[in-house]
Amino acid sequence: MPTLSKRTEGFTDSVIRRMTRISNQYGAVNLSQGFPDFEPPRELLQRLAEVTKEDFHQYSITWGAQNFREALAQKQSRLMGRTIDPNGEIVVTCGSTEAMMAAMMTVTNPGDKVIVFSPFYENYGADTILSGAEPIYVPLYPPEFNFNIDDLEAAFRQKPKALILCNPSNPCGKVFTYDELKTIADLAEKYDTFVITDEVYEHIVYEPYKHTYFASIPGMWERTISCSSLSKTYSITGWRLGYIIAPKEVIEVAKKVHDFLTVGAAAPLQEAAVTGLRFGDDYYKDLQAKYTEKRDLFLRGLDDIGIVHTVPQGAYYILLDISEFGYESDLEFCEVLARDVGVGAVPGSSFFREDVNHLIRLHFAKKNETLYEALNRLEHIRNKIAKR
Ligand code: GLN
Repeated sequence: MPTLSKRTEGFTDSVIRRMTRISNQYGAVNLSQGFPDFEPPRELLQRLAEVTKEDFHQYSITWGAQNFREALAQKQSRLMGRTIDPNGEIVVTCGSTEAMMAAMMTVTNPGDKVIVFSPFYENYGADTILSGAEPIYVPLYPPEFNFNIDDLEAAFRQKPKALILCNPSNPCGKVFTYDELKTIADLAEKYDTFVITDEVYEHIVYEPYKHTYFASIPGMWERTISCSSLSKTYSITGWRLGYIIAPKEVIEVAKKVHDFLTVGAAAPLQEAAVTGLRFGDDYYKDLQAKYTEKRDLFLRGLDDIGIVHTVPQGAYYILLDISEFGYESDLEFCEVLARDVGVGAVPGSSFFREDVNHLIRLHFAKKNETLYEALNRLEHIRNKIAKR
C-alpha cells in the first residue's frame, strides 16, 4: 500500500471521543465527552417536527440560511455590543469544530506559529497540525490558571499569526477577566496577531464571573475571529451547528474554506434552531441557574468523598486530582475507573502540553439523577481502585 499523509502522523484519534466509546463498552456513567443527557428546549423539538414537513430538505445557502444568520446576528449584536451584519460577517458551520478549523485555514500559512494556552481543548492541537501551523504553548498556572505576562510576550515575540482563546475555558473552567483580555489585546495589537476565539460556553458562567467577548474589547473587532456554536447553549451537540463571526474581509475567505470543506450545515436543523436564537434573556438566565445547581451539587458530592478538584468559573468541567492512587498513566487510570467504578472520565494529559498525569476531567452536563448515580459510584473509588 502507498504511504499515508505525513500531515496526520502527528496526532492520535480524539481521546475525548475514545473515552465515550470506552464508557459505553463498560456501561459506565459517561462523564467524559461533554454533552448533556437531558432534552433540548421543547420549542426547538416542536419546530424540528414541523420542519420535517416543510421545504427544508435541500442545501441552504452555503454560508448559512438567511433567517438563521439574521436571528444569530440579532442575538450576538445584543451580546457583543456591536451591530453584526448577517450578510457579510457570519458563516454558519458544522459545529464550532469546523468553525475553528476553517478559521485556522483562513488566517494561517503552513509554517506559521499559533499561540495555544495549556491546558487546551484537544482539537486545537490537531487543528494546527492539519492547517500546517505550529503551536507555541503558553502555560496557565493552577490553581487559578492564570498566565504569566512574560511567558505570553515571549510567545508573541516569535511572531505568531494567531492566538487561540477558549473562554470560558475547557477543561480548566477559567473565565478570563477583562484585564487579562486587555493584556492579550495589547499584545495582539503590538505584534499584529489575529485572535481566534472558542466561546461555546459563553452562556455557562457562574456568579460572580462574567464573560467578555474578545471581539468587544476596543480595537479588537478587526483582528478577532469569533467561533461558537449552539451545541452547549441549546443542548443540541448532535445538530452540529456552529458559526464564525468576523470582519467582512475574513468572512469572505472563511466562506470559501467552509464551502469546500462541508458545503453547509444541515438545512432543517438550522431552520429549527432559529426558534432558540430568538429566545429572550430569561432562557439564558435559566440555563445559568440550571448549570449552577448542577455544579454545586456535583462539587458538594466530590467534597463529601474527599477528592481534590478545581472549581470552575465557567463551562461544565472539573479536573480531579488522582495523585493519591499513584498511577503513572492517567489513561490507564481512566480505563480502570470506567471498568471498575463505572464512571467515564478523560485523562488530563490530553489537555496539557506539560507532563501532567495526575488529573482527570469529569463534566456535569447531566440530569441530576445521572450526577447522583456517578457520585454513588465514586463513593467507592478507594475500595475499587487499588493504590499503586
Ligand atoms: N467539547 C466537548 C468536550 O470537551 C466535546 C466536543 C466534541 O467531542 N466534539 O468534551
